[in-house]
Amino acid sequence: MKAMLLTKLVDIETHPTPLSLRTVPDPTPGEGEVLIRVSACGVCHTELDEIEGRTPPPELPVILGHQVVGVVEQVRQVSQVKIGERVGVAWIFSTCGECEHCKAGEENLCARFRATGRDANGGYAQYMTVPAAFTHPVPETLSDSEAAPLLCAGAIGYRSLRLTNIHDGQSLGLTGFGGSNHLVLKMAKHMYPNTKVFVFTRNPEEQEFARSLGATWAGGIEATAPHKLDAIIDTTPAWKPIVEALRNLDNGGRLVVNAIRKEDIDKETLLELDYPSHLWMEKEIKSVANVTRQDVREFLSLAAEAGIRPEYQEYELEGANRALLELKQGKIRGSKVLRISE
Ligand SMILES: [Zn+2]
Ligand SMILES: [Zn+2]
Repeated sequence: MKAMLLTKLVDIETHPTPLSLRTVPDPTPGEGEVLIRVSACGVCHTELDEIEGRTPPPELPVILGHQVVGVVEQVRQVSQVKIGERVGVAWIFSTCGECEHCKAGEENLCARFRATGRDANGGYAQYMTVPAAFTHPVPETLSDSEAAPLLCAGAIGYRSLRLTNIHDGQSLGLTGFGGSNHLVLKMAKHMYPNTKVFVFTRNPEEQEFARSLGATWAGGIEATAPHKLDAIIDTTPAWKPIVEALRNLDNGGRLVVNAIRKEDIDKETLLELDYPSHLWMEKEIKSVANVTRQDVREFLSLAAEAGIRPEYQEYELEGANRALLELKQGKIRGSKVLRISE
């Protein structure tokens, strides 16, 4: 099969083609696994963190990609999925199923959490294998390219929105407006119809995009919102937005950081943290780690029911490097999807 392989960790701006197109043997499913013919795979900011070594794959070469939609072609000792079924695969590739976290429904926190496209080969390829229990049914109303970005950007956005603890009518800030937060805006409009959404992003086109999707207000990262906000979700790779978000947060408000890693480039900004204005009055910071299967499935149903669809741009499998570089450079409008086979 054709696959885009990551063979070494590099800085993508100095090495703009980190992945190489190779022909490799088709994978074969192990016990309890399925073989999927991949039709679409979303491109995620986490892939930059993998390529640049902030969350490095334990072994190389590896096939990235954790927002996979495809059709089951083979099964091995599997009862829950059938050949010919269309399924999705998300960041959660497998967990131990036995630890306290797994038993408590917090499988996202499992110490033996394995991530698709990092700890196991993912969807930047014509085929992949995955445990059947970690595939998800894809609602019929969504096309392959529409469903792919929902599997990470959407599902983790859904988890982030839940972790804000807001209720209808409370105000919500979104810092960064890429693949995930543009979907959070859409789901917030559906789940909390009286909630006003305020978007912080440095790119004026993204500010305009946010307003066109129903944001009440959009401004730069350092802007001051018209009033203090009950919760803010940050999806940026930087630290400055954290400090600015804490400043815009109301007393008792919660900042949810939806990022697997932050880049060190502006870390000194944290020295600007002023306890009385940024943290006092019971402001909270909570990170988001991974997703559970329940997050993915609940969100896919919600998306189908509410008609939540991502804005997306398509690339060929061979175009993965270009998509990743554009993501790094902030050339984002919605989500990016690789089209792999029809
Ligand atoms: Zn992702
Ligand atoms: Zn576990």
